[in-house]
Amino acid sequence: MNCHEAHEQMYGYLDRESGVVRRLRVRWHLYRCPPCGKGFSFEYALRLRVRQGCRDELPEELSHRLRALLREQTDGQG
Ligand SMILES: [Zn+2]
Repeated sequence: MNCHEAHEQMYGYLDRESGVVRRLRVRWHLYRCPPCGKGFSFEYALRLRVRQGCRDELPEELSHRLRALLREQTDGQG
């Protein structure tokens, strides 16, 4: 398997559509080829995040403001 094939098979692997042998071959290539392994990790993390629905992901600025607001309130009551 070369890099091109690995990339093509990667999506089947991620979507669990590939058979056992094909999955093993993809895995072996990713293990032997660091650039493809990195690409795979990225795709994998991306899919995981999408599956989780980005629920607990707040924009940096918003979470910062929220924290500042909470701190103000607790200080006021203190
Ligand atoms: Zn490769």
